[in-house]
Amino acid sequence: MSQGKYIGVLTSGGDAPGMNAAIRAVVRTGIYHGNTLFGINRGYQGMIEGDIEQLNRYSVSNIIKDGGTCLQTARSNEFLTKEGREKAFKNIKRFGIDSIIVIGGDGSFRGLHQLIQEFPIQGIGLPGTIDNDLYGTDFTIGFDTAVNTALEAIDKIRDTASSHSRLFIIEVMGRTSGYIALYTGIGGGAEDILIPEAPMDMQKLTAKLNAQHKAGKKSSIIVITEGEAAGGALEIKSNIEKVIDWDIKVSVLGHVQRGGDPSAFDRVLASRLGYESVLAVMNNENDKMVGMVNNIATLTPLEDTWTKKKDMDMTYLKMNEVLAAQQEKALEVIA
Ligand code: ADP
Repeated sequence: MSQGKYIGVLTSGGDAPGMNAAIRAVVRTGIYHGNTLFGINRGYQGMIEGDIEQLNRYSVSNIIKDGGTCLQTARSNEFLTKEGREKAFKNIKRFGIDSIIVIGGDGSFRGLHQLIQEFPIQGIGLPGTIDNDLYGTDFTIGFDTAVNTALEAIDKIRDTASSHSRLFIIEVMGRTSGYIALYTGIGGGAEDILIPEAPMDMQKLTAKLNAQHKAGKKSSIIVITEGEAAGGALEIKSNIEKVIDWDIKVSVLGHVQRGGDPSAFDRVLASRLGYESVLAVMNNENDKMVGMVNNIATLTPLEDTWTKKKDMDMTYLKMNEVLAAQQEKALEVIA
């Protein structure tokens, strides 16, 4: 293991609860093993502007419980250009930094990969995104907290839905990845879950809802992903309204899902990945993301994280159909 490295850490792209726990683990593990640690503020934009400071173990005291990121995050258009990346590289070299640990999603990893191709810099990625859409890790930092936040909202909506005999369509985040919808839908006992990984036929959905409504079902909850091909919650509402005479309400949960204190699971995951990322740097690994696969710390080439797709276990969706079925035959007719 190489010691005495100059390691920079940054958070980039969309923020996710647990990023602070990851920063803390990177800084403390790095210093423990005799390295010098730097915080790069505001992602790649801070790198371009030289917004960099040395950190000690106390710089990251008491942040493990906080949502957001103490280093702040940003999206940088300048970093998309070769000139921008050259500026960024020159800046980190001014501080003597020879390796960087990037906490972010696949966009941030593309940026890191590009930088490594063009300049002599070592880089390791750490999966921080609420969407859980990265190949090479079973769970990403922030996903569990986002699911719990959405679930809290669904539980409350369930109360009002049943009091008023309403159909609620709840739109959750996830871009084109259905993990948040799948987990919150199951956890919240949703009658239907719409995810991009399993496109739903609108006709089938409305026929099924109609059957449920006629059978006397008073309230129902559908959870959908923001990037659903059939359209957002409002579009789906207007399609269902054409066919069913039911009081339909829409709730788009939005950015509330990005905030809040990280869950215990996210704190533990972030700590482990932060710790492992420093070991990877010291083992001279490069151009890879560290993730947890079957509870084992695993390195995956950065490029695989956006070129390969994580397999979603469709049993969960099937299971939910069974758990939400009104009666044995009702689903069979529609299937
Ligand atoms: P996330 O990491 O959450 O997916 P983004 O997709 O917004 O977030 O990416 C974060 C930043 O990474 C961008 O603002 C940009 O600076 C950098 N980046 C993204 N894609 C590339 C790319 N292909 N080449 C260079 N930099 C990139």
